[in-house]
Amino acid sequence: MDFLRPATWEDALAMKAARPDATPIQGGTDVMVEINLDKGRPTALLDLNPVAELARWSWTAGPAPMLRVGAGVTYTRLISELGAWLPGLAQASRTVGSPQIRNRGTLAGNLGAASPAGDGHPPLLASGALVEAESVRGTRLIPIIEFYTGVKRNALEGDELIRAVHVPPAAGPQCFAKVGTRNAMVIAVCSFAVALDVRARRAGTGIGSAAPTPRRAHAAEEFLAGELDWDGAGPLDPALAHRFGELVAEAAAPIDDVRGRADYRRHALAVMARRSLGWAWAERGSVPGTSDASGTYHQKSGENG
Ligand SMILES: Cc1cc2nc3c(=O)[nH]c(=O)nc-3n(C[C@H](O)[C@H](O)[C@H](O)COP(=O)(O)OP(=O)(O)OC[C@H]3O[C@@H](n4cnc5c(N)ncnc54)[C@H](O)[C@@H]3O)c2cc1C
Repeated sequence: MDFLRPATWEDALAMKAARPDATPIQGGTDVMVEINLDKGRPTALLDLNPVAELARWSWTAGPAPMLRVGAGVTYTRLISELGAWLPGLAQASRTVGSPQIRNRGTLAGNLGAASPAGDGHPPLLASGALVEAESVRGTRLIPIIEFYTGVKRNALEGDELIRAVHVPPAAGPQCFAKVGTRNAMVIAVCSFAVALDVRARRAGTGIGSAAPTPRRAHAAEEFLAGELDWDGAGPLDPALAHRFGELVAEAAAPIDDVRGRADYRRHALAVMARRSLGWAWAERGSVPGTSDASGTYHQKSGENG
């Protein structure tokens, strides 16, 4: 096995162009497991860790700035440094593995692996993220909904690498829920994310581990956009929350496998969706770090290192 170690992003792209067979490695929490379990030995590893710029996050320019999360930003840093703007993603990140896994693992690695059970996917779908993919041929921004192409398959070409993920800051409350067979160090039996944009009267959703790929529940989103009393001050209508849960469950296409039965997954999704919506609704108007009482968005300046 060859071990390729680029010092710069340009070197990494050149190496990937010359060796499309090379497997990128960032945190290694998926790649090393595959190697240790002897599930196919890569012909070459492309170690992205020396590329310092991948460990940075920043804001994109333009009228609707997004968080540009470098491919080397770990879950631990995502939680501590970006949680105020990306509460749904931070909540999902807190459920990934253990502190050791979160200290090494990255969102880009979750996307590279493209497991339907990856915890990063539902919140990225719910908030409409973009994947910044690059090769020596150029850069493209892939809408997250187009990124997942099959079980553990994604839209990257052989010479492309993920440079960053662009995520809109929360425009309202967000929530992530996951069912597992225990409380920690567990791959999702199924998972769900919701993101509300109260001012735009829009809801985003993401379903995990209940279809060949992570997916949105489009009909459930349209139902909320049309039926939720967005200006209402009162509690959530239980009948509306129930219907939302049903529509989320209908959007799933689960299978029976070692982690759970299809029927159970559908049922759990309906419950999680109903509860998540209730929790999010209870928090509307107060998303820390993103808006004041008038809904004005506050952007913290600067770039981290
Ligand atoms: C004990 C344990 C517990 C875990 N628990 C969870 C869990 O609860 N939830 C969960 O979602 N996952 C879990 N995982 C899986 C893993 O931690 C995550 O998928 C993590 O996000 C992988 O990130 P990484 O940086 O370690 O990726 P790596 O292992 O380095 O790479 C993963 C994949 O992405 C590709 N890749 C990496 N970087 C790039 C890039 N820049 N461009 C293109 N492709 C790239 C690699 O080639 C590989 O295919 C667990 C793993 C372990 C070992």
